[in-house]
Amino acid sequence: MDMKDKIAVVTGAASGIGKQIATVFFQHGAKVAIADLNLEAARTAARELDPSGARAIAVAMDVTNEEQVDAGIKSVADQLGGIDVLVSNAGIQIVAPVQDFDFGQWKKMLAIHLDGAFLTTRACLKYMYAQGRGGSVIYMGSVHSKEASVLKAPYVTAKHGLIGLAKTVAKEGAKYGVRANTICPGFVRTPLVEKQIPEQAKELGISEDDVVKKVMLKETVDGEFTTVDDVAQTALFLAAFPSNALTGQSIVVSHGWYMQ
Ligand code: NAD
Repeated sequence: MDMKDKIAVVTGAASGIGKQIATVFFQHGAKVAIADLNLEAARTAARELDPSGARAIAVAMDVTNEEQVDAGIKSVADQLGGIDVLVSNAGIQIVAPVQDFDFGQWKKMLAIHLDGAFLTTRACLKYMYAQGRGGSVIYMGSVHSKEASVLKAPYVTAKHGLIGLAKTVAKEGAKYGVRANTICPGFVRTPLVEKQIPEQAKELGISEDDVVKKVMLKETVDGEFTTVDDVAQTALFLAAFPSNALTGQSIVVSHGWYMQ
């Protein structure tokens, strides 16, 4: 998997899945930009990879903010020499039943997952198309891009939507050699999931242990969490894939929770 001198921007890469994707890309020769709302954590993550700052940089970015996204992507391209790979990964989770879901929270969820994916894609495509060396856009979907779960209406809605965006970008990007795909992980034990375990236990009236065993991992083939590295290796495969043959797809990495 050759990522040598490819330039990748990963959003939400100060933590969890995005952080591991940036790490694996870096280890395979890429230059990486860690774009995150949390600039301090992004700086720490970038320094851990490359204290010199030549091949790993941090960028402050709220993916829902048009000006911040455009300025952040421009600064990555200026500092690292273009953009070859975008991983639109930043995300949060808010759980509640539909009848009680606060409209502001609903809009916040759709803004981070969908507006964020659109804005970062638009900003990066300008560079990918102009450079004339192709590119790879990767969306962080979820098994919830394919399946629903109770309490997660905006998350499920947004994650399904990402597949539509990926397919459209795949069609529009083809003549420029730009591919677009979605990764759909099962549950990964990151801060996003740790936060949900007590929240779901409360909402569903069951123990935290039962949330893990009987809700999160119930449908897997082996009762195992997916790991950040499982997802990062999939991202590496999609980022380094050499042709338009693999585009417009969604790849589920979930210990068999969802089989397509
Ligand atoms: P995480 O909480 O560990 O990391 C998310 C990162 O996104 C954080 O660093 C946070 O600061 C950043 N972020 C949040 N809002 C942002 C914004 N508006 N702009 C820029 N950055 C922002 O979460 P994670 O589990 O690593 O999740 C990453 C992605 O993977 C999300 O899109 C999530 O929906 C998806 N996902 C996670 C799981 C899982 O089980 N953990 C499963 C499937 C999909």
